[in-house]
Amino acid sequence: MSNPSILILPGDGIGPEVMGEVKKIISWFGDKRGLTFDVSEDLVGGAAYDVHGVPLADETMAKAQAADAVLLGAVGGPKYDVLDFSVKPERGLLRLRKEMDLFSNLRPAQCFDALADFSSLKKDVVAGLDIMIVRELTSGVYFGEPRGIFEENGERVGINTQRYTESEVERVARSAFELAKRRRNKVCSMEKANVMESGILWREVVQRVHDEEYPDVELSHMYADNGAMQLVRWPKQFDVIVTDNLFGDILSDCAAMLTGSLGMLPSASLGAPMENGRPKALYEPVHGSAPDIAGQGKANPIACILSFAMALRYSFDQGDEATRLEQAIEKVLADGVRTADLMGPEGGTPVSTSGMGDAIIAA
Ligand code: ATP
Ligand code: MG
Repeated sequence: MSNPSILILPGDGIGPEVMGEVKKIISWFGDKRGLTFDVSEDLVGGAAYDVHGVPLADETMAKAQAADAVLLGAVGGPKYDVLDFSVKPERGLLRLRKEMDLFSNLRPAQCFDALADFSSLKKDVVAGLDIMIVRELTSGVYFGEPRGIFEENGERVGINTQRYTESEVERVARSAFELAKRRRNKVCSMEKANVMESGILWREVVQRVHDEEYPDVELSHMYADNGAMQLVRWPKQFDVIVTDNLFGDILSDCAAMLTGSLGMLPSASLGAPMENGRPKALYEPVHGSAPDIAGQGKANPIACILSFAMALRYSFDQGDEATRLEQAIEKVLADGVRTADLMGPEGGTPVSTSGMGDAIIAA
């Protein structure tokens, strides 16, 4: 059988720098663990625009559809701000998400003990935190019709429509329950069923999928506003949170900051299973292209490396190897190795992007 395939799209800004460390780690897994991937690389975002005049070439799109997993660095940068909306670097990423139909966006908020002091919250609130937010990514109010700015009774009105079909809720609910089974077996679903019909349907469908297919998973429902409060008050009460596109956008950013730096946060976007049973999948750090530090070897590669760990776990059934990688990161942080973004006011000497990658490989 052929090796599993990975398409690497480093993108712009710090994307190529942090992805460079992931490439070293992929080689390490091949050399030391006999885990070999067929890796290919292509352009996305501004880097693709510079060569092809579009932020994602059709040929690259086809490679992404065929790959077992896509790893993306970051897209965008000030150089491209002047471009027409239709060819902006971000459109490349949106095209990938849309055409691969990646409806389930997984954003873990995991706090490494060594960084617990770094959160804006009290240490006991965040130390040991390990929760997962599952955000519906392809529907809801960001896509619903009608939408637009219209003229009505002599004034303008801005309209967006929150819209969910049963099947859209079912598939994202299933992905949350499946995840929970591999974790602490708990799902909390968040909506506003008290004031929104789409929320009533959401709650009904999640409950039905639970009762029919996942009765052994512990399920609770929470209004999203209360959820936001609970997330900050005592986040460890949660395991998996499943929610819609809009609430998920806000709640996952909120959860992210429980853990400290943007340089630490991975994500996965999953679609329907392919013929080989693996889900279509795109893995990327939460952070952007960070033009302010690009090209200086200062970027923290951990978010991108943790995204690869998610690929090991969710695309390649290598949960133990993913844990091994996460433990190496934990150890390096416990040893006090820090990139500049992880330095507190007391200062110290930061390591470079490659210094961090090398330390993780050594660990
Ligand atoms: P985007 O619009 O692409 O999401 P953004 O402006 O929201 O971009 P980032 O590009 O992620 O945000 O950068 C926000 C800030 O965080 C910047 O100051 C950047 O230097 C810092 N930052 C982001 N990622 C990292 C990283 N991996 N290591 C260190 N600092 C980072
Ligand atoms: Mg941003």
